[in-house]
Amino acid sequence: KSGFVAIIGRPNVGKSTFMNRVIGQKIAIMSDKAQTTRNKIQGVYTDNDKQIVFIDTPGIHKPKHKLGDFMVKIAENTLNEVDAIMFMINADEGYGRGDQYIIDRLQSNKTPVFLVINKIDLVTPDELLPLIQQYKDKYPFQEILPISALEGNNVEHLMDVFTDFL
Ligand code: GDP
Ligand code: MG
Repeated sequence: KSGFVAIIGRPNVGKSTFMNRVIGQKIAIMSDKAQTTRNKIQGVYTDNDKQIVFIDTPGIHKPKHKLGDFMVKIAENTLNEVDAIMFMINADEGYGRGDQYIIDRLQSNKTPVFLVINKIDLVTPDELLPLIQQYKDKYPFQEILPISALEGNNVEHLMDVFTDFL
């Protein structure tokens, strides 16, 4: 089984951290600074009969200049070509304009979108439930998966969900 998964989300939600964890080596560029991951970086996850190609898609968030517009177009094309989209958010932050911008870009999208709530190590279950409801109201997500990319919580389950889906 194999397939392609595009990772989208605002800067600093943990996309590169996730990529590095599942790939097991530093492929994505990790940084605290926004806009440092400029290229479409692919990482291949292989486990027995499963192979998933992850595509970091940094261009999908709100462009600040012309180069940004071009990157958004590339990113939107990528989203139509993959088997699944992973929309990563930060459990520690509520729904904001950055998320709204991305969801607006998904309106004509037909690829299934999985909501991945990252950094659950920073919140309590009580805080997580209202956050999940808030996002559920905005888009018909295929599934909602809370994880901690940094600590590894639930990452294996996420990989199982994706390999079953693909
Ligand atoms: P990206 O911009 O979406 O690629 O985000 P990065 O992977 O560069 O992560 C941004 C910051 O969030 C870094 O300081 C990471 O160490 C931190 N981070 C990523 N995942 C987690 C997590 O699960 N928990 C916590 N507490 N921090 C995280
Ligand atoms: Mg990054």
